Amino acid sequence: MLVGRVGFAAELGHVTLPADWYPEGTIPAKCNCGKNSDLESIASLTGIQLNLLPYFLPLFPDHPLALLPIKDAAKKVRGFAEKGDEMSRAIFRAQAWALGAHIDQMINVFDPDAVFIGGGVIEASEELRRWYLAKIRESIPFRDEQTELDIEIVPDGDKAGARGAAVFAFQAKV
Ligand SMILES: [Zn+2]
Repeated sequence: MLVGRVGFAAELGHVTLPADWYPEGTIPAKCNCGKNSDLESIASLTGIQLNLLPYFLPLFPDHPLALLPIKDAAKKVRGFAEKGDEMSRAIFRAQAWALGAHIDQMINVFDPDAVFIGGGVIEASEELRRWYLAKIRESIPFRDEQTELDIEIVPDGDKAGARGAAVFAFQAKV
């Protein structure tokens, strides 16, 4: 387990994305932590609200989500994506590319056995989850020895933080 000097190790969401993570243009993205274009600023519900909808809605001006307050619209993107909506799939594809760029950086540092994806996608339909994982995988420039890497939706819920805290407490016997 990675703890780090001040307990902040492996807080991966606030690692800055590589500049070319989105090959179709530039999506201006600000995170609540104050940084620009970190993973969380794209691959999160907050990222959809603060950065992805403001980028994509002007490209789809007649989209029904344009009529809603942005916070409500953000929560409906997943449901629209499940029905195949073009803009919502573009939003999830952008998230998948951001995750792919980030995973590429991480596997070249840690060489892990597998990568688990958590967050809201856990609750998506099976078809959307498989599509999302495929988009992530397609965007990673694997080296030959990396191509067998497992990338899966976290199998038993999004509990990495709680599990890590429990393991840490057990090991530290606090
Ligand atoms: Zn951040």
